[in-house]
Parts: sequence; structure tokens; C-alpha cells
Amino acid sequence: MKQRLIVATNNMHKAQEIREMLKGLDFEVLSLADAGIDIDVEENGSTYAENALIKAMALRDLTEGWILADDSGLEIDALDRAPGIYSARYLGEDTPYMIKNSMILNKLEDVEDRSARFVCSIALVFDDGSYWITVNKCEGSISDSIQGSNGFGYDPIFIPQGHSATFGVLPMEVKNTISHRAKALQAVVQYCKLLTEESYV
Ligand code: IMP
Repeated sequence: MKQRLIVATNNMHKAQEIREMLKGLDFEVLSLADAGIDIDVEENGSTYAENALIKAMALRDLTEGWILADDSGLEIDALDRAPGIYSARYLGEDTPYMIKNSMILNKLEDVEDRSARFVCSIALVFDDGSYWITVNKCEGSISDSIQGSNGFGYDPIFIPQGHSATFGVLPMEVKNTISHRAKALQAVVQYCKLLTEESYV
């Protein structure tokens, strides 16, 4: 029987991306909407991992099966690693990213150290309440201007290491192999393979 896995997100794009990555496993991957769950969890942890676990644990009483939740953000070294875990709320939750990204570029005007990274934590919670967490990064730097419209959020100002264009310019297939979320999902796939196929863990 397929293992049921609920992905704790209301973002259909994210659920689809996760379903795609996990398609080699014998899982029935359901989004919150697929599972008929309507919940908005307050992310009040102090780390990505805590927030991912808070989201996953909040679903335990509402559904059966394994639960996967993620939390991610952008860290800019010259801004003391802001926006970090506050990435969604930074400069106002409803402020369009075009404006947020321009404001960040203004803050970094004349700043030499433009190093930055995307971070993603994924928590997996099992039927018995035990859990497993991974944290992954994609290192890079902040561009001098807004470039491209691929992706979402801070993508048009983030240049991943080893590339000369932002995630806003790079094709989605490239982002989906090197991003923080892709790396975290690869770790999930590897771990789930061990659990379900090889019974090593
Ligand atoms: P979430 O925890 O994945 O919902 O991400 C929180 C926030 O981090 C998002 O609302 C974005 O502002 C930012 N973020 C996370 N991942 C990405 C990404 O891949 N590209 C651009 N922005 C991202």
C-alpha cells in the first residue's frame, strides 16, 4: 500500500514541486487542499527547523499519515542575515516583491559584501509523533539590479554561486536542481528511500 504523505502547504505550486520530486517513491502525496484541511499555522519559532516542525506537528490531530512541512527564507550577510525567518513578512506582508527587492537593493547601495543564501528546512513527522529534520542552503549573492521574472519572491535579486544571473533569469529547471528547497527535498527523498525501500533506518 502506498504511504500517505500530507504536504503542509496551501501553495499549490510548492505541493506540485514536492510531488514531482517524490514521484520515484511509493507515496500518495496530498496537499492540504487534497486532504480537505483548512489551517493557517502561526510560525512563531526562532529557526527554520522549529517553524517547519511547528507546521508539521499542527496537522497531527487533523490527519492520518506522514506529514511534511517546510520553512525557508533569504539571509543577507550585510543586513545581519535579515530577512531570514521573517522573509515573508519583511518590509510588509502585502508589499509587492518588486518594491521589497528595490528597497533591499537601496539598502545595499555601495555595500561590497553582497553574500547571501537561501535556507530551507523540511520536517517529516511520522505516525508515532517521531520526526526527522533537514536544513539545506543555497549560497549566492545579491545582484546590483532586479533581473528577470522567473520564480517568485526574492528570486530576481539572488545570484546563486557558480552562475552569473539571478534565479529570476535562470530557467526553473536550473533552480530546481540547485535551490535550498531542491537540496532539502533531495535529502528527504534519500531518507525516505532508506526508510521505505531498504529498511535501514
Ligand atoms: P516559505 O517558508 O517557503 O513560505 O518561504 C518564506 C519566504 O521566503 C517566502 O515568502 C519568500 O519571501 C522567501 N523565499 C523562500 N524561498 C524562496 C525562493 O525559492 N525564492 C524566492 N524567495 C523565497
